[in-house]
Parts: sequence; C-alpha cells; structure tokens
Amino acid sequence: MSDILSFIKTKNPGEHEFHQAVENVTASVRTLIDRHPEYRQEAILKRITEPEKVFMFCVPWVDDQGQVQINRGFRVGMNSAIGPYVGGVRFHPSVSLSIMKFLAFEQVFKNALTTMNMGGACGGADFEPKGRSDREVMRFCQSFMTELHAHIGPNKDILTADIGVGTREIGYLFGMYKKIHKEFSGILTGKSLTLGGSLIRPEATGYGTVYFAAQMLASKNQTLEGKKCLISGSGNVAQHTAEKLIELGAVVLTMSDSSGYIYDEEGIDAGKLDYIKRLKNFRRGRIMEYINKYSDAVYVERNATLDHQPMWDISADCAFPCATQNELTGKDARNLMKNKVTLVCEGADMPCSTDAVEIFLEEKILYGPGKAANAGGVAVSGLEMAQNSMRLNWPRQEVDARLKTIMKNIHAICLDAAEEYGQPGNYLAGANIAGFVKVVDAMLDQGV
Ligand code: NDP
Repeated sequence: MSDILSFIKTKNPGEHEFHQAVENVTASVRTLIDRHPEYRQEAILKRITEPEKVFMFCVPWVDDQGQVQINRGFRVGMNSAIGPYVGGVRFHPSVSLSIMKFLAFEQVFKNALTTMNMGGACGGADFEPKGRSDREVMRFCQSFMTELHAHIGPNKDILTADIGVGTREIGYLFGMYKKIHKEFSGILTGKSLTLGGSLIRPEATGYGTVYFAAQMLASKNQTLEGKKCLISGSGNVAQHTAEKLIELGAVVLTMSDSSGYIYDEEGIDAGKLDYIKRLKNFRRGRIMEYINKYSDAVYVERNATLDHQPMWDISADCAFPCATQNELTGKDARNLMKNKVTLVCEGADMPCSTDAVEIFLEEKILYGPGKAANAGGVAVSGLEMAQNSMRLNWPRQEVDARLKTIMKNIHAICLDAAEEYGQPGNYLAGANIAGFVKVVDAMLDQGV
C-alpha cells in the first residue's frame, strides 16, 4: 500500500489534498485488497486514482470597469465506471488541480454510495464571486461555459453546485449551454424551479447530513433532541444543516465564514437562522453582522496563524464542519474530545485533517465522513435528473422522503461493510470499502 502512495505522490507532485484523499481510501481498503488478489493483477489502485480526463482552460472575461480578467477553469472526470460523470463546480480563489482531483476522487465513492448510476467528477475555477456584481458573475459564467460546453452533456458529464456556485451561477451556466446547443437539457442540477430544478435540492446536502447524524445516534438509542451543536460555515450546506437540526430540537450554537465565527449561547433559532440566510444569500454580507442584530452573541475573528480554531473548543455534544477542506485540525479534534463531543458529522468534503480523523477513530466516537454524510446533495441531483428525464416535478414531501430513505440506506451500507471487513462502527472504512467495491466491480466488468 505504501508503494502505491509513493507512486501517486511522485506522479502527482505537490497535490497535497489529492494525496490526502487517496491515502484516506487506501488505508481502508487494505484488507479488501488482500482478500482479492485479482485487484492487484488488474492494477485497480493505479487505475482508480488516475483521472480519466483532466481539462484545464483559460476563462477570459470583462469586469464592470472594462478591464479584462483571466481565470483558470478545470474539469476533472475521475471515474465513469458506474455512470456518466456527476460532480460539483467550485468557484473560489483557492481552486487548484489538487483540489479538483481530491473532490473528484471523493465524488467517485460518494456517488457509488447513493446506489445511483453516477460517476465522479469535479470542476471549477479560481474565480471569487464575492464582491463581484451580478453582471460580472454572469459574464464569467458565460465565458466558463463557452470553453466547457463541448466536454459535458446529459449522458456524459453533469455539473452540480459546490462552494461559490448557487442558483444564480447555475442559471447563468445553464443559459449559456442552452444558447450554444439550442437545447434545454439536463446538464446541470441545482437549477431554479423555473429551469426544471428539483424541490429540496438546495436543502439536500445539509438535510442529508443531519439525517445521517440522526441515524448514527439512533444506532446508540439517542436522538438529536436537546443536543448542543457546533456548525462551521454559513453557506448552503451550513444553513440547511442548521435548519434541520433546529427542526429536530437540537441547539445550534455557532456558525462561521472565512472571516470568523459567531457563538450564540442561547442558540440560533429558526428566526435567527432566517436572518443569516437573508444576510448571506441576498445581501451577501458577513457573519460578523449577526451580533449587530443579536447583541448577546459574540463574534470572534479568524486568526489564520493558529493551528486550531477556538470555535471547536466550545462545550457541545456534536460538531458539523460544513465549510471547507482541512478546516478542523488535530488540535481541534483534541479539543472536541476534551469537551466530550460524541458525534462529528461532515457536511463539507474532507473538512477534518488526517490526524483529526485518526483521533476520532481512536476515541471511537460517532464519526460520519463527508463522502457518506453529505451524499444527500448529489443523491437529489440524481433525483433532479430523473425528474427532468420524465418531465415531472415531484412534490417536496416526496423528494424529502426519498432523501431520508437514501441516507438511511447509506448509513446501513457503511455499517455493514465495516462489520464485514472487521472494523465494526467505523463509518469511514465502511464508506470507502462499499464505494470501492461497487466501482471496482464495474471496472472489472468492462475490461481494461
Ligand atoms: P458555500 O459557498 O455556499 O459556503 C461555503 C462556506 O464555507 C461559506 O460560509 C464560506 O465563507 C466558508 N468557507 C469557504 N472557504 C473557507 C475557508 N478557507 N475557511 C473558512 N471558511 C471557508 O458552499 P457550500 O455550502 O455549498 O459548500 C460547503 C462544503 O460542502 C464544501 O466542502 C463543499 O465541497 C461541500 N459540499 C457541498 C455540496 C452542495 O450541495 N453545495 C454537496 C456536497 C458537499 P465565506 O463566505 O467567507 O467564503
């Protein structure tokens, strides 16, 4: 196993996030590979870690001052053994090939766990929508799609939302694809309802994360009622994680953005969350403004020089990292353990560093890895594609019920695989093994 890791590190130098994601999976599938000598013969690990396609492109656009701007766009198709590529599009200045590859790799296993036929991909650009006017975002999206359109299609590669990409960006991307191809087709999910979007898609990742957490607690005869919860982020996933937690009687103490976090000891209730949604989604404001409205809460500015975030040192029962990769460090994990947090459920992709995850596994707390816990978003993308094909719109309750069932199934799949391979209760091992087996079996069926 160390051979394959050093091979991947040498072949993909400097791609730290990608190395981390690969290491995370290879550590789990060791026993599985020992039981299946044919996987070695078929060079499965080398094949599954090599993207099937990588497309990097220049995105020129003109800002409101008439100045030409240049960004770099990406689309990585990691694996299409079980279906057409489906995966997020991220617009954030930190976007790099390594981040695209790690997200696409995670997506392969996540999509397999939904039990739908979707391969794994990811794309995006190092573009910062924050501070840009709607017209600038539109021109950027149009240029991005002008380059990307030939590489995607409803049976080829389908785009979904990720950081910095919401209904507004999806609408502009869809409009440009339609203009070029002269067809109204399902190449994007997360669309507004007027464009054929699905009810519950915006909520799905956050709601699904909470449904997964509820399942983990139920396995210990517990519920979320009264549980004090820490949430990071205040974007799509964080907002809907908070919404569902509040609905189920949990007490949400924190939310954050890249500038800092708010701590509301009284709990962020539905009314306060509504304020946060308006602040972030319509005014595109900062989380610090919360304390102007709710003066009993405190705001703590982010100190990027620290090796931990004080937010994770607040006394609570559960933690939901919902912002970005590697936001929760080993030191944060130790603080969570010191404060007797018993559940960590990842709304974001790979938000916990490798040493943080090791601590959760050692302490045997309920740890829900993102590829299982946040799979509800892409699952409802799959449901959106199904509704588009049938020219139907299912009601809210129907999509939500399907989402709940899917999350319950993913939870069971993880537990069963972990048990079968001698790691009972280890959701990370279970998610990696179950996703791996499904994809690898399909690869083997298709030959070399
Ligand atoms: P949004 O853009 O809606 O929100 C992202 C949030 O994270 C914002 O509050 C943002 O703060 C914060 N954030 C971003 N980068 C950093 C950083 N470097 N440090 C601290 N905070 C940061 O994105 P989503 O909510 O859609 O996505 C969040 C996570 O969930 C990502 O990991 C994504 O991959 C994952 N995910 C999303 C899915 C979806 O359906 N949207 C599906 C599955 C996974 P600020 O506003 O200051 O940038």
